[in-house]
Amino acid sequence: MTEASADRPADLLEKIVNLCKRRGFVFPSAEIYGGFRSTYDYGPLGVLLLRNVKDAWWRAMVQLRDDVVGLDAALLSSPKIWAASGHLENFTDPLVDCRSCHERWRADKIGDRCPNCGSTDLTEPRSFNLMFKTHAGPVEEDATVAYLRPETAQGMFVNFAGVLQTSRKKPPFGIAQVGKSFRNEITPQNFVFRTREFEQMEMEYFVPPGEADAWFSYWLEERFRWYRDLGIPEERLRLRHHQADELSHYSAATADVEFLFPWGWDELEGIANRTDFDLSAHAAASGEKLEYFDQATGERYTPHVIEPAAGATRTMMAFLLSAYDEDEVGGEPRSVLRLDPRLAPYQVAVLPLSKKDTLEPLARRVLGLLQPLCMCDYDVTQSIGKRYRRQDEVGTPYCVTVDFDSLEDGAVTVRDRDSTDQTRVPIAGLVDHIAARIA
Ligand code: ATP
Repeated sequence: MTEASADRPADLLEKIVNLCKRRGFVFPSAEIYGGFRSTYDYGPLGVLLLRNVKDAWWRAMVQLRDDVVGLDAALLSSPKIWAASGHLENFTDPLVDCRSCHERWRADKIGDRCPNCGSTDLTEPRSFNLMFKTHAGPVEEDATVAYLRPETAQGMFVNFAGVLQTSRKKPPFGIAQVGKSFRNEITPQNFVFRTREFEQMEMEYFVPPGEADAWFSYWLEERFRWYRDLGIPEERLRLRHHQADELSHYSAATADVEFLFPWGWDELEGIANRTDFDLSAHAAASGEKLEYFDQATGERYTPHVIEPAAGATRTMMAFLLSAYDEDEVGGEPRSVLRLDPRLAPYQVAVLPLSKKDTLEPLARRVLGLLQPLCMCDYDVTQSIGKRYRRQDEVGTPYCVTVDFDSLEDGAVTVRDRDSTDQTRVPIAGLVDHIAARIA
């Protein structure tokens, strides 16, 4: 781990956690009952930001390509899937107890001392399976056991044959999925970085076996670029290749995209060459053929898989941490989220200069013009300066102010979040003006 970079406020994490709660991005779950074990609820702004992160991923991974299709598999899943995938046996973390204060820890994350009380009197590590087990139906017996999926990936493997047949794709092609996953993490921590319920954005890319290495390199570059394009500064991103002893049981090669969090470098996404491990395991366990038959060459093979696996909630946090900035405007300190317009919860805020009834109809008309284009906020309370600050703090890239001149000249003022520059724009050209700046 490296020290957090010097240009960041020392209490950045705390600031983000506070901002998230104060402005309605992320609330601790069940707070009226004293909270519930590292679970979080996404408020009005958080749900927009998280959705934009997932949409940006979907756009890059599915919409802008002709070789990747989507899937939304069940969260509640058959134990047979997890037996075949190796999760029942291997999806474990090493658990240790502190004999002194009785806290429990993940042995690979703490060294030889209890982080709570400093004692070195720890039990031997034992394997703890991270899957949430439940029962489907009213009878709690072995035959009704079901698991909440701990990753979205297996959905793509068990649906491989159905997707291949119905989509008429052929390798190289991918299946992408965004959705919730559940892991009974021993020590959830660092806000939404590690939680027991989280969202993943995963894609399984099926390739002819001989092409796996080349596609692995391709996806490393693509995925690294995605974070950079959406505004994470390059100096806070790196690719880290796993050493041979670090590789999962299924992996021939893995590299992580890491972000410089306030506590040091940590994973945003893992990109793995999973070989034919999963398809072969499910074929063997189910008796179904999970292969590709190339009619042109007469060749039959089990595709190898390159998997870029990212966390949506964790990535959202990285975008918030990189976007946060403090500067001065008109001699006053301000905090601003310099989010890419594609990620910002609101792209535009429409602000009538005064509460007077005379401005309201035009302001509402302007709002109505912009709403089909993007998410808009509408705010009439307090001084215009305070309203600008409020929008800066949640990352709204453009404020559109309707003033008394607007009634005469049919134009509005568009204020830029980052430069705070103001431009007069005719209402007739406003939608085009904004559209050109938020795509
Ligand atoms: P870790 O080593 O941090 O436990 P992992 O390597 O097991 O994570 P993967 O199984 O590769 O994680 O999952 C892919 C991505 O899903 C991770 O890079 C991360 O962004 C996200 N993720 C995994 N576990 C969690 C969690 N408990 N909370 C939030 N996001 C998670």
